[in-house]
Parts: sequence; structure tokens; C-alpha cells
Amino acid sequence: MAQSTNGHHHAADLGGRRALVTGAASGIGLAVARHLGALGARVVLSDLEGPRLEAAAAGVPGALAIGADLSDRAAVHRLADEVGEVDILVNNAGLQHVSPIEEFDEARWDLIVGVMLTAPFVLTKRLLPGMYARGWGRVVNIASVHGLIASPYKAAYVSAKHGLLGFTKTLALEAGAHGGGVSAHAICPSYVRTPLVEGQVAAQATAHGIPESEVVDKVLLTQNAVRRLIEPEEVARAVEFLCSDLGWTMTGGVLAMDAGWLAH
Ligand code: NAD
Repeated sequence: MAQSTNGHHHAADLGGRRALVTGAASGIGLAVARHLGALGARVVLSDLEGPRLEAAAAGVPGALAIGADLSDRAAVHRLADEVGEVDILVNNAGLQHVSPIEEFDEARWDLIVGVMLTAPFVLTKRLLPGMYARGWGRVVNIASVHGLIASPYKAAYVSAKHGLLGFTKTLALEAGAHGGGVSAHAICPSYVRTPLVEGQVAAQATAHGIPESEVVDKVLLTQNAVRRLIEPEEVARAVEFLCSDLGWTMTGGVLAMDAGWLAH
């Protein structure tokens, strides 16, 4: 157990571990990168190339930035080549597209499935042999409540997230045969306060003709028992928990951070 300066005990001391976080320029990924860095990990932040990524990495002591467009298969392989050894892989990059199925743009479908399902598979495929060789590894997939249930008009996102849960379970079965040092996890949050959601709040306010302040309570979180947005740092703390020595006990599992959404 590591002890932080504020006296709280941390589940995981990640000194000496190397972590790769995708989608790390923003929202949940940035919070995860910062948190893993604070726990002692050497963090590589990846996102679309540009000043957002550079600024994010500059805020994490000792971190590296590697730009990669995860919808480009060759770029995913280049990222795996450049990053080298990774003990903790956090597959987090994602995007949303809202449209009825009969009008759903096929290129958007390919993009979402590519970034949110195929890239996690390829990165895992490439980084897993090193984890097996070193006898320790964590693959933490940031899925969603939409990996477990659907909402209308989010066909690609819901399908990719359901697929990501299937991939997590398959990985857990294969990795388990290597003795439990390498584990696979999916985290399924309800709405988290990030730019991805803040954009939806503005759009929903216009669509429903209500002020933005009412959107969270009356539109987004109507299914939640607790009508509060989750903070990105709270998801980061769940990643920490899964990176602790308890990881093997939960391999293949889904950690729902749904504020009671699925309790219905
Ligand atoms: P965000 O928009 O703040 O961050 C997502 C990041 O992914 C961005 O920095 C973006 O540049 C990056 N990204 C998008 N396309 C990419 C590509 N082709 N290549 C590389 N990077 C790319 O969103 P967020 O809310 O922090 O979401 C992070 C993850 O959490 C996503 O997988 C999302 O589905 C999931 N999630 C979010 C919520 C929520 O309410 N915010 C809830 C459940 C799950």
C-alpha cells in the first residue's frame, strides 16, 4: 500500500510500472493519466496528434506523448512499436455519433468501431506478449453503461462497447491461463463530466427547449438512482483499484459505475 501526502492509503503503488492511456488529451483519459502518474507509473499519453495532447502530457510529470489516430490501423501498430514495454494498458479513446439506424452513416460506424473496438484489440495483441513475459499486466477497457444496455440512436457506440466487453472476457480467459498476473477489466460508467458530455448537454438543451442546467437532471440522468455526473477523477480511482494486487480476483469482470442506472 502506498500512502499519499494527504494520508489516504492508495490501493496500488505503481512505482516502476509503465502505462499507456489512449484518448489521454481529455476527460477520463487525462484524469487516468494524471492519477497513474501520481501513483508512480511512467505514463505514455496517446491521442490525436496536436497541441491538446502536448499540453496534457506536459501536465503529467515524467510523461511522454505519442500521437496516433486510432482509426488508422497502421498508426495503431506504429504506436505499439514506439511505446515499447507497457504494464498497464488503458483503452479509453472514444467518440459518439447519434443517428437513427436507417440514416446511420457507414463511415461513422467504421470510425467508431475502429477506434473503440478494433484499436483496443490491436494494442492488446501487441502489448500482451510483454506482459506475459514479465508476469504482470493490466488491460483496463473504459466501456460504458452502453456496454450493458442500449439507448436509441447510438447504434455504433452501443455495439462497439458491447463488443469491448466481449473482448475483455475473452482476454481474461486467455490471460488467466498464464497464472493470474495479467488481468482484464471493463469499467462501465454512467455519464461522466467530460467534454464529450458537456457537448451533449448543450445539444439536448436546444432539442428539448430547456436550460442547460436542467438537462443533467431531466434528460441525461433520468435512469440514475443518484442524479449526479461522475467526475473523471472518480473513474481514475476505479482504474487504480483494478491495478492493485486484487486485479486477478476481478479479471473478466465489469465494474459498473452507473449511479444505480442498472438497478431498475
Ligand atoms: P472526451 O471526448 O473528453 O475524450 C475522448 C478522447 O478520445 C479525446 O481526447 C479524443 O481526441 C480521443 N479520440 C477520439 N477519436 C480518436 C482517434 N481516432 N484516435 C485517437 N484518439 C481519439 O471523452 P470522455 O468522456 O473522456 O470519454 C473517454 C471514454 O470514456 C470513451 O471511450 C467514452 O466512450 C467513455 N465513456 C464516457 C462517458 C461520459 O459520460 N463521458 C461515459 C461512459 C463511458
